[in-house]
Amino acid sequence: MSEICTTCGLPKELCVCETIAKEALQIKVYGIKKKFGKVYTVVEGIDAKDINVRELTTKLKAKFACGGTVKDGRIELQGEHRRHMKEFLVEMGYPPETVMVK
Ligand SMILES: [Zn+2]
Repeated sequence: MSEICTTCGLPKELCVCETIAKEALQIKVYGIKKKFGKVYTVVEGIDAKDINVRELTTKLKAKFACGGTVKDGRIELQGEHRRHMKEFLVEMGYPPETVMVK
């Protein structure tokens, strides 16, 4: 007996729920300017069910050596990191086509 997926009711080896969830996911990376012309890099669309967003933010802060906060599942990092953000997210296992850099 194989395990049954609780979402679609199919055996796990036939289930594509997880694949669909990853494909439907769109991560947006963009820059914003705040008070005093400070630049922030925003990462939006990380699935909080899938990933511990706070933990990810801690990793990002260490990697880019900058400050950062999480607000409503949206990550804001100080500084301009758009160029390297995609590389990092792809390394983490996100398919490149789901990461949109503006
Ligand atoms: Zn399923």
